[in-house]
Amino acid sequence: MSKYPERDHGYRNSPQVTIPPIIKDGLQNENCPECKGKTLFVIEVGLENEVNDQESAGIYVGCAACPFASPMMIRR
Ligand SMILES: [Zn+2]
Repeated sequence: MSKYPERDHGYRNSPQVTIPPIIKDGLQNENCPECKGKTLFVIEVGLENEVNDQESAGIYVGCAACPFASPMMIRR
């Protein structure tokens, strides 16, 4: 069993990733809320969509310098 709980953002288990993450954009005017670095990126991943079996996309902000990641917005 993992030492860390699964990331679920208060809903259910994280969706299944089908396409590896890609960087969509950098956030040059924002500081990371954890490490205060100007190291944030907008990241998109392809997700398996349990609702209708089609692909959907998840978008979140992640930090390149520490483990910070925002909750994921899911586009169906
Ligand atoms: Zn950070």
